[in-house]
Amino acid sequence: MCGIFAVSAAKDNILDDLFLGTFYLQHRGQQYCGLSTYAGDGIKIRTHRGLVRATFSDDLTGLEGRMGIGHAALKDRQPIKLDSKMGEFTICFEGNIINLAELIDELKKQGHSFYTDSDIEVIAKLIAQGDDFVSGIESMAGKIRGAYALIILSRGKIYAARDKFGFRPMIIGKKDGAIAVASESCSFVNLGYEIVRDVRPGEILEVEDGELKTVKVLPSDLVQYCTFEWVYTANVASTIDGMPVDIARRNLGACLARRYPVKADIVGAVPNSGIGHAIGYAQESKIPFDNVFIKYDYASRSYTQPTQAERDREAKIKLIPIPAKIEGRKVVICDDSIVRGTQMKNDLVVKLRKNKVKEIHAMIACPPLRAPCLYGVATRSKKELVAHEKTVEQLREYIGVDGLAYAELEDLSRSIGKPLEQLCTSCWTDAYKV
Ligand code: SF4
Repeated sequence: MCGIFAVSAAKDNILDDLFLGTFYLQHRGQQYCGLSTYAGDGIKIRTHRGLVRATFSDDLTGLEGRMGIGHAALKDRQPIKLDSKMGEFTICFEGNIINLAELIDELKKQGHSFYTDSDIEVIAKLIAQGDDFVSGIESMAGKIRGAYALIILSRGKIYAARDKFGFRPMIIGKKDGAIAVASESCSFVNLGYEIVRDVRPGEILEVEDGELKTVKVLPSDLVQYCTFEWVYTANVASTIDGMPVDIARRNLGACLARRYPVKADIVGAVPNSGIGHAIGYAQESKIPFDNVFIKYDYASRSYTQPTQAERDREAKIKLIPIPAKIEGRKVVICDDSIVRGTQMKNDLVVKLRKNKVKEIHAMIACPPLRAPCLYGVATRSKKELVAHEKTVEQLREYIGVDGLAYAELEDLSRSIGKPLEQLCTSCWTDAYKV
């Protein structure tokens, strides 16, 4: 997962918008970040290991310009810079190339050398083979198997492209004299951009001097929006492909309440992404929503820890149960998903039991995760997924709760308001259409 942000203005310096627009995508990637700008005197690029605000707040000088791209990454440093017959350019992307090894072999046979084995270097080299950026993106898209949303900064123009299946989200915003393209619209809200529309699956955009035009749409019979964006990945303030994330989460909670009614005293959430689901469950069931756990603001961020053991330790530290709310009560606890099950089993349930909760009913806002994502969200193997070889009843026993229920695929479709065939569901079905 990564966040990408691009902005172009007719006159003004965009650096502040670029910095903050990228910062508001921090939830999509926390290991590296980078900014690249153009001001008429060559393309500048700067990357850091760490978080956008922590690393760039005192390191923006010299990056002023009228156009720029930014990246928040979980995996590798981006943007990267390349020289080509179209001139120098910087590029960053979100997604995953499934046939990466094959493409690297092919490019090596053509005489290319590689500094990394990352997807972005392959994508950049493939695009650089085009006669221009648009033909380069089109030809790259014909060679890769996988998912992408990408932005390119050239001398004077920005290009943005979304793969023809629409896996990764991408949205356009505008304000006076400026156009922005971002992974999510939560980037726009505090910066004063209005949503124009989502980038269409297969669309290639050209942005120049704060003006936008569609230069190509790559055709496809199949659309596969990443369902997990609405369940967990995206920020709750975002609207993805026309559906506000917050509403989708509440709808999912309501579906769970209709499908699995229980007699309980309160409905709570595993914060933060379980909150929308819990509010939906509470509203539908008429059981009051309340804080069962709070997330302690000063705990360090579990996702920035280098090892799984350290991440588990931080996850344990950050959630505090509220004894006065839960002692002697029957609690419904909503979460977006269960991956390995260890946090639920070894942390949440232990804390609730220690605080003398009477019953715990876990409501999970998507079906059991049974397969890895090949399209850029997470690369966990099947054996890491606790649901891979367990029934729901076995999972309930393993986790140690009194009740466990999962949303079903139809609930996802109904809650997101899109037909199931337009939604990628591979991580639940273990069937891959692309
Ligand atoms: S496999 Fe799951 S996480 Fe990956 S794109 Fe599909 S729905 Fe999203």
